[in-house]
Amino acid sequence: MSKTNEVVDIFLRISEDHERMKREERNQLLESIGVDEKFDKGTMEISHRTCRGVDCRLCIQACPTNALYWKDGEVGIAKELCVYCTSCVNVCMVDNCIQVSRVRSDGETEKFSNPREIQRLLRSISYRKAEERTKSRCAHESPFSDGILEFPFEIP
Ligand code: SF4
Ligand code: SF4
Repeated sequence: MSKTNEVVDIFLRISEDHERMKREERNQLLESIGVDEKFDKGTMEISHRTCRGVDCRLCIQACPTNALYWKDGEVGIAKELCVYCTSCVNVCMVDNCIQVSRVRSDGETEKFSNPREIQRLLRSISYRKAEERTKSRCAHESPFSDGILEFPFEIP
């Protein structure tokens, strides 16, 4: 291996170690405040240009992990505490003021910058759950299985 490649390799390893340590610290911090469900990757930004800060602060009240706080006349972010839950976007009265982007377990990236996008996601989740429940109930109560189909059964 050439000298340049060796140097690049060492820097790469140092930065990977640093990232790993940061991830571990974040997990410990979140565990200590009782958060076990979280998105590991994401970003969260606030536009201080459009934020209504002093007469609002709704996002600070809504944040479940205290990642948001009031500092020097504006909303501050403790990024290591953010779990990208989108509660802050859901209460913010200014579209595109808060931007949350997060990577789902299937690798898809979701982006939110206003409450309507969150409501849409929640509706699609509850629709999907209802569909799964109905499918599993139908499979269970199928006249082709050994059970007897009984009506009426509840449709969620
Ligand atoms: S996304 Fe959730 S955890 Fe992150 S700052 Fe907003 S409310 Fe807090
Ligand atoms: S909810 Fe939106 S407008 Fe209100 S303080 Fe937070 S970022 Fe600013």
